[in-house]
Amino acid sequence: MKTVHVNGPVPYPIHIGPGLLDDGQRLAARVRGRHLLLVSDTNVAPRYAARVRDALLGARPDLQIGQYLLPAGESSKTIEQFAAVIAALADLGASRDACVVALGGGVVGDLAGFAAACWMRGVDCVQLPTTLLSMVDSSVGGKTAVDIAQGKNLVGAFHPPRAVLADTGVLATLPLREVRAGLAEVIKYGALGDAAFFDWLGEHQRALLDGDADALAEAIARSCQHKADIVERDPLERGERALLNLGHTFGHAIETEQGYGHPDNDNLNHGEAVAVGMVLAAELSTRLGMAPAQDVQALRGLLAGFGLPVTVPAGLDPQALLARMRLDKKNIAGRLRLVLWRGIGQALVVPDVDEDQVLAV
Ligand code: NAD
Ligand code: ZN
Repeated sequence: MKTVHVNGPVPYPIHIGPGLLDDGQRLAARVRGRHLLLVSDTNVAPRYAARVRDALLGARPDLQIGQYLLPAGESSKTIEQFAAVIAALADLGASRDACVVALGGGVVGDLAGFAAACWMRGVDCVQLPTTLLSMVDSSVGGKTAVDIAQGKNLVGAFHPPRAVLADTGVLATLPLREVRAGLAEVIKYGALGDAAFFDWLGEHQRALLDGDADALAEAIARSCQHKADIVERDPLERGERALLNLGHTFGHAIETEQGYGHPDNDNLNHGEAVAVGMVLAAELSTRLGMAPAQDVQALRGLLAGFGLPVTVPAGLDPQALLARMRLDKKNIAGRLRLVLWRGIGQALVVPDVDEDQVLAV
């Protein structure tokens, strides 16, 4: 097992390794009171929820465990589902020492985390991420949110988890498309701040796509360490943390404009949209004379090598995407503020980007 520590006002560990869902002692050690709400989705729960319940009750037979399941997919990250999780906490009689356990991908983690942030002004949350994307990104760092029709993640709170337990064994059932989506966020860490990691990913492409356990654990741990380092220095995103949004302003615009991804439609999922978004950010950087063109080529090549999309889906109107980008949380005083780069491993925040240049890419 590998462990990454996130220091800061509320320190917590990220454990990474196979079999963690069955480690009832480790999980129960994070639960202070008697009330626990397990939040999961309709894909994940049938596979893994019973294991988690059994492990917890084996360690703490006195626990009162409630369960709430969301329909799988981004379209569940809504205020309505948030209200339903809150109602489940109320039905459980959850007190202030209650614990919300999020078992699932980023959708479950963001929604359950937000409910934990709000119930009685904040109860504990433990993240059990089951997608690669949630292991390397969304379960770490304490950002929680729901989407609204006008845009992604526009309603939310900072609420760090008490612990993250990433059981890498569950990646065996994750569809390849979702593995690739997670790898987009892994590549993001290399692209924004670690050229050596970027190269390592190129060298381990086959192993990562084949589900090689060691390669995946290494990629997860290195990604979490990157995120932990940045979040420690800037927990509330006053500065440097914005770099983690490389590709996201473009990506969120695509996701919102297209209609959120769902297992039953072909719309880009979050990781795929971020892949396209990173290429656009890199192309824009070259256009603005900030970065060499060959670095865009290298990024495009790496993403495409992992089977990720690198161009905007057909049929999306650039003006409409730009309008979506104007609602991004990073903008200040109505000016477009984007994460761009000087090349591989060197992202930076650029305030007041010219909209015509954005339209051009
Ligand atoms: P997701 O939660 O929708 O999971 C993807 C799909 O995989 C779902 O259908 C899910 O049911 C299924 N699944 C999950 N685990 C599985 C497993 N082990 N086996 C089989 N199927 C499984 O999506 P995601 O990609 O994990 O997360 C995307 C979300 O994360 C977006 O809403 C994004 O905004 C958010 N996000 C948040 C942060 C943050 O800092 N909070 C960071 C990055 C992304
Ligand atoms: Zn992301």
